Amino acid sequence: IKIKITNIDIPVAFASAFEGEIIRRGDMQVEFDGSRVDCAELVQTVDASEIEDHKITVVGPEADEMELGSKNSIAYVVKVAGKNMQPDFEPVIERKFHNYINCIEGVYHTGQRDMQRIRISKDAFNAGFRIKHIGEVLYASVKNEFDAVVDKCEVVIYTDPAECTRIRHEVAIPTFDKRDDRLKSLTDESVDVYYSCILCQAFSPSHVCVVTPERLGLCGAVSWLDAKATNELDPNGPCQVITKERPIDERIGEYEDVNEAVQKFSQGALQDVSLYSIMEKPMTSCGCFECICGIEPFSNGVVITNREYAGMTPLGMTFPELASMTGGGVQTPGFMGHGKHFIGSKKFMKAEGGIERIVWMPKELKDTVAERVNATAKELYGIDNFTDMIGDETIATDPETLVAFLTEKNHPALSMEPMM
Ligand code: SF4
Ligand code: ZN
Repeated sequence: IKIKITNIDIPVAFASAFEGEIIRRGDMQVEFDGSRVDCAELVQTVDASEIEDHKITVVGPEADEMELGSKNSIAYVVKVAGKNMQPDFEPVIERKFHNYINCIEGVYHTGQRDMQRIRISKDAFNAGFRIKHIGEVLYASVKNEFDAVVDKCEVVIYTDPAECTRIRHEVAIPTFDKRDDRLKSLTDESVDVYYSCILCQAFSPSHVCVVTPERLGLCGAVSWLDAKATNELDPNGPCQVITKERPIDERIGEYEDVNEAVQKFSQGALQDVSLYSIMEKPMTSCGCFECICGIEPFSNGVVITNREYAGMTPLGMTFPELASMTGGGVQTPGFMGHGKHFIGSKKFMKAEGGIERIVWMPKELKDTVAERVNATAKELYGIDNFTDMIGDETIATDPETLVAFLTEKNHPALSMEPMM
């Protein structure tokens, strides 16, 4: 027998009314920040015999053992078991953590995978809210929403920094990589349908992601396989099937079916989007993009920066500054939020010439995506070690130095058609 949990045992309120709540630095008791320290959030399918339903464990210090205003590590592993459970559903359940944790009064959550950020307010803390209560919320929400597939659920929350490092690097990242690899064999041409995702409409009411095999959602957490699983788990949920039978313009990736879907799911706010262009009818951005790509006029190319990189870009803007002009669910030609994994895609701004346009990335991001980017550049343009031609902050953070570097490397963007 399945029992719906209606009352979650926590000392603060839990309701969707708190979803958009923001907690300012001065109002916060403690925070957790995956872009600065090791964090992770993960669902793991295990055998029913291996878990105890509703067991919640905190490994490491509780919130009252953390300094006021401090930045800490957190990694929570939600173990689930059920005879209808499939590993394909894991990322779908994971992506809902964002909503669940945000529904807690006085708790704010953003990001996903190993890049989440959580703040607990002083008010929530003073009311008795502790880290173990995050476990209660995750347990109850997962059991409620995924009762069709989850029979038993146990939550382990690590706050011990060494354990967080271990979970992140030895458990979470290999899991995320494995998921990403499964997509490698799929292309946009090889599937019959794409999917919409409107999970972010709580924050960006008109935002719609169109998720294809070669273009994952801009949060980096919703691949085409995830969107498909979401649709199977909840046919009336955030991910809907979009047919692709009526192409308008193959070059920019525009379809009548996709436009109709986007019009419907944005309640008329958006008329048309392309899948492969950042200049013509680009897809909108909500707020949770992993990266932002923006045009760099002096080199005819584009600069990409990511959330973890706090420094300056050759566009004269930092990630937060670029984010403030790119987000909000409106189309901003020339600027686009996207997932990290999209950078190595053959469909990355294909309409403007593809990844050959990339002239700058933060070094760490470049290293992360190098293998895929180099493989794609070799296949599409016959260029070896393309990332060696791409600038980073150790080479230049202003356009003049960057162009001098690109000229020396004979970067292909310099001789391409202007983008504007
Ligand atoms: Fe869905 Fe896009 Fe939001 Fe990711 S960014 S959750 S794909 S709407
Ligand atoms: Zn979003």
